[in-house]
Amino acid sequence: MITRRKARKVKIGDVFLGSDFPIAIQSMTQTRTENVAATIAQILEAEKEGCDMMRVAVPHLEAAKALKEIKKKIHIPLIADIHFDYRLALEAIKNGADKIRINPGNIGSKEKVLEIIELAKKYKIAIRIGVNAGSLEQELMEKHGGPTAKALVESALNWIKFFEKHKFTNIVLSVKSSDVLDCVEAYKLLAKKCDYPLHLGITEAGIPPYAAIKSAVGLGALLLEGIGDTVRVSMSAPVAEQVQATKNVLKSLHLYNKEPEIIACPTCGRKQIDVEKLARKLEPELMKIKRPLKVAILGCTVNVVGESMGADYAICGGGKGKCAIFRKGKILKWVTEKNIVGEIIKIIKSTK
Ligand code: SF4
Repeated sequence: MITRRKARKVKIGDVFLGSDFPIAIQSMTQTRTENVAATIAQILEAEKEGCDMMRVAVPHLEAAKALKEIKKKIHIPLIADIHFDYRLALEAIKNGADKIRINPGNIGSKEKVLEIIELAKKYKIAIRIGVNAGSLEQELMEKHGGPTAKALVESALNWIKFFEKHKFTNIVLSVKSSDVLDCVEAYKLLAKKCDYPLHLGITEAGIPPYAAIKSAVGLGALLLEGIGDTVRVSMSAPVAEQVQATKNVLKSLHLYNKEPEIIACPTCGRKQIDVEKLARKLEPELMKIKRPLKVAILGCTVNVVGESMGADYAICGGGKGKCAIFRKGKILKWVTEKNIVGEIIKIIKSTK
C-alpha cells in the first residue's frame, strides 16, 4: 500500500487534485486546436480510454477562441497549454479553460505573468507552473551548469514565491525532464519543499515500447514514494495509447482500480495451452468489465495453487486441450481451450 505525500486540494473543472483524491490521468491532444471537430473527437476518444483531463496547445488566438466550442462537447476539464504570449493565456481563460499551463520563465516578464495570475483569480481557475528542462531561465542554466534537477526546482520555487506573494495558491507544479534520473531527483526535491499537487511526466519519452518502459521506470520511482497527484505518459504515439500507458502504470501500483488486470505466465517447456494467444484474446473482453479483478493465465499446473489463490480467477492448462477455471483457488470447471474465453467471461459476469 502506497502512502501518498500530503498535497493540498486544487480544483480543475470538476476534478480535484491532491492526496485526498485519486491520481488523475491526463493527456494532450495532437490535433490543431482550431480544428474543433478533430480536437473534440480526440478528447472524446481519450475520455473513453479513462482520461480525467485533457490539455490542448494554444499557440495562437484562433486556438484560444476554439476552446469555447470544444468545451461544449466534452465532459472532462480542458487545460490550455501556453508558451511565450501571455495574451493567449488571458484569451484561453476568457474562453473557458479550466486550467492554464504556463512556464512562467518564457512568458517574458513578471508583469505579464501577473496579468495571467489576476485573471485566473477572477475566473477561479488553477495554473500549472510547468518548469521544463528545455525552457529553463538562462541565469539558472548558468548557475547550475545546465538544466539540472536543482535548477528545475529552484525555478519552480522562485515562481511559487512570486505567485504566493500575489496571493495565488491555486497551483499545480511540474519539473519535467526527458532524463529519468534528473526528473526523479527534481520531483523528489520539490516534493519536500512544498505541498502543492504535482503533475508527473517524463517529457518527450520517445516511441513505445521503450517510451512506455522509460516512463514507467521514472513515474514508478516517484509514485512508489507517494509522489504525484496527476500523471501523463507522453510518447510519440496515438493519444489513446498514451492514456492506456498512463493507466497501466497506475494500475500496476494499485493506484487505478477501475478495470481488471491479467497475470499471465511467460510459458516454458511445460505449457499445455497457448498462453499468449489466450491472453490477447481475453484482454479486450475482460477490459469491458469495469471493476478491479485479477485473472491469472497459467500454461500448466506447476504454480496453480499459489497463483490461483492470489487471483480472483485463474485459467490453467491441464493437457489434452483442456483448461481448468479456478475461482479464489478453488476449481470451478474444466473447459476446452477453444471455449475458455467465452466461458470465463460468462462466469465473471455472473458473479460479483
Ligand atoms: Fe512454465 Fe507452467 Fe510456469 Fe507457465 S506456469 S512458466 S508453463 S511452469
